[in-house]
Amino acid sequence: MVGFNSGLDIKRSYYVATATPAPRHPVLAGEVDADLVVVGGGCTGLSAALHAAERGLKVVLLEGGRIGWGASGRNGGQMIVGLRKSAAKLVELYGRERAKALFDLALEAWTLVLHMIERHAINCDLRKTGHLVGAVSAADMAWFEREVECLATVMNYPHMRVMSVIEARAAVDTPYHGALFDALGGHMHPLNYTLGLARAAIAAGITIHEDSPVVRLERQAGVRVETAAGAVRSRHAILACDALLKGIDSGVESRTMPIGNYIVATEPLEDAAAVIPSNAALSDTRFVVNYYRLSADRRLLFGGGERYTPSSPADIEGFVRPHMERTFPQLKGRRIDYAWGGLVSVTTSRFPHVGRHGEIYFAHGYSGKGVLLSTLAGKLLVEAIVGETARFALFEGLNPMPFPGGSALRGPLYVLGMLWYAMRDRLKC
Ligand SMILES: Cc1cc2nc3c(=O)[nH]c(=O)nc-3n(C[C@H](O)[C@H](O)[C@H](O)COP(=O)(O)OP(=O)(O)OC[C@H]3O[C@@H](n4cnc5c(N)ncnc54)[C@H](O)[C@@H]3O)c2cc1C
Repeated sequence: MVGFNSGLDIKRSYYVATATPAPRHPVLAGEVDADLVVVGGGCTGLSAALHAAERGLKVVLLEGGRIGWGASGRNGGQMIVGLRKSAAKLVELYGRERAKALFDLALEAWTLVLHMIERHAINCDLRKTGHLVGAVSAADMAWFEREVECLATVMNYPHMRVMSVIEARAAVDTPYHGALFDALGGHMHPLNYTLGLARAAIAAGITIHEDSPVVRLERQAGVRVETAAGAVRSRHAILACDALLKGIDSGVESRTMPIGNYIVATEPLEDAAAVIPSNAALSDTRFVVNYYRLSADRRLLFGGGERYTPSSPADIEGFVRPHMERTFPQLKGRRIDYAWGGLVSVTTSRFPHVGRHGEIYFAHGYSGKGVLLSTLAGKLLVEAIVGETARFALFEGLNPMPFPGGSALRGPLYVLGMLWYAMRDRLKC
């Protein structure tokens, strides 16, 4: 039987194969009391639990499957500064002042994650080698220039620059028209980071129950959440379920859409340093984005291809390989040792959905930028719970619209739209 968050071949992931040993946590049994119940054991939930415990709250965290086996422990590990929309788009939508405040907060996510890694001595193959976006079309170079200009002048962020064709080729051995390079950012082993957060949260005094999916949420005096074998009564609750949120709060659920996304890890490459001399985290400007990087043991971890329908490809390796070989023809036929998938949750605006309904707080829908933002969002939720609402309010104000048709009909309508954009992308090249 597939466990709560063990689908899409996570057991065939590079991360599970190289995970730091971690304890299993008991199933919730019986009724317990807490100040805060956190639903979801990924980086959002664990960061919230850790920050709440450090503020003196009694925290119980309920994970439906295994800690870190949601998106947090199966993603590309790319640490990318900012929100999913460009800085220039932020300014266009919100004006300079609010856009800068939002960008500053997103930038803080990078420093917060680095702080967590250092403070809790988390061994997660951290590489601060920057992030590079490769231009698949010459037209991309114009918006790269505008973005660098906006970041430097409005956001006071001097770390981003445009790379020429030649510089880009020196950073990665594939023919881009140029690149956008952010010297901040990098990559890490996301499952080991998540397990490190869990270890720190336990040391701070929180209780974790695995294999304890929440099946019901009741608003009483405070909140009561129920699992098959127990319940937690609590003053506050945090929903940190991202793409796996289903059936416990339809209003919150209707703001995000799960999209299947797939990754492979090659055999260790003798020529890894020639493939990506910069060792940066990389992606490209395709609508269905390719993203890739080297692992600590010189494998290429390559994510490519998306599915908007609920079924996953029967052969994930066969699904991703053509994307990898189109980017790196020199790797044609190289052995693939690991292949797995995960669900990315996106919102209509591609901004995160962060907010509260009474004593139920939530944060999700980072739209492919959650490696950094999830740890920050967990911290902001706790700030709001203890009454420090200013920074939380900034993200809350982004408030993406629900998907048309709500949680029941969002799938079919969205699929049509996404397929259209994906087809346009294919016709471009
Ligand atoms: C394949 C893939 C590649 C990605 N690559 C990148 C990348 O390179 N860079 C980047 O910035 N972002 C990336 N992302 C996005 C990023 O991984 C996510 O935004 C982030 O991990 C979300 O963290 P989270 O803690 O909110 O959710 P999750 O890590 O998914 O955690 C949610 C947890 O809630 C649990 N849960 C759900 N419902 C219940 C319930 N009813 N009861 C109890 N528990 C429940 C789940 O089991 C799960 O463990 C990627 C995502 C995927 C899937």
